[in-house]
Amino acid sequence: MAKPVLCIDSLSCCEGCGLQILNCETELLPIFAACDVGRFREGSDGDVDHYTIAFVEGSIVTAHDIEKIQELRAKTDILVALGACATIGGVNVLKNFQDPDDVGKYVYGDKRAWFPHVPARPLKAEVKVDLEIQGCPINPLEFLEATRCLLMGKPFKAPNYPVCVPCKLADNVCLWHKGIPCLGVVTRAGCEPYMCPSAGHKCIGCRGLVDKPNTNAAKDVMAEFGLTVEDVLREFRLFQGIYKEVSQES
Ligand code: SF4
Ligand code: SF4
Ligand code: SF4
Repeated sequence: MAKPVLCIDSLSCCEGCGLQILNCETELLPIFAACDVGRFREGSDGDVDHYTIAFVEGSIVTAHDIEKIQELRAKTDILVALGACATIGGVNVLKNFQDPDDVGKYVYGDKRAWFPHVPARPLKAEVKVDLEIQGCPINPLEFLEATRCLLMGKPFKAPNYPVCVPCKLADNVCLWHKGIPCLGVVTRAGCEPYMCPSAGHKCIGCRGLVDKPNTNAAKDVMAEFGLTVEDVLREFRLFQGIYKEVSQES
């Protein structure tokens, strides 16, 4: 029987999710032994005509990205969006709130190369996505589990409860008690054991929202600690701004 053919590729991003895959090191060996790797941008060269599973990190920020993801979708059975850039737009979304010409001039001066850019958006804004693995970067344990499930034909489902659940199970003192607006209240869990509040840092929402965030509970918590909705929305802009931009366009 022919082996499944894998692709691990990147659109516009820092390629940190691909690096997380390489960081799996020996855990990758049984997966790679069971598959042919047709393309792995971080690890090798090459491209083939058909992929069983394609993992794609990065968001769409240029016309070339749109072309590339459509071509890949056409020759792939299962397309997996990898990381915050690919699933919710990620940090690239910040550019949607600024004048790209001003930013380009500020960073590159007159050395800036022009390219046909579009508002940053996740893969699902352009093509059908079969599975999303969240995070900035992805949790390597979740990547390994999802990949094993896909290869064995078993369903994989990311947690649909907020980061507060594993945070409480880890016995962390809630950061809201220190006046820190932590987005774990409405953010999808699955980053454990690497979740930020365990290291004393607030959750900044890199895994996107749970399907049905309990916004009333969040409002109650905000009121208790004297924070406004605007205070919290500001926190959301880093990873969640894409929803506003895409809905404004359509
Ligand atoms: S999700 Fe984060 S780590 Fe992954 S490619 Fe995007 S910016 Fe890099
Ligand atoms: S709001 Fe943040 S710190 Fe508080 S319980 Fe939830 S995840 Fe933990
Ligand atoms: S705690 Fe929040 S910001 Fe940190 S990794 Fe988890 S989802 Fe991302």
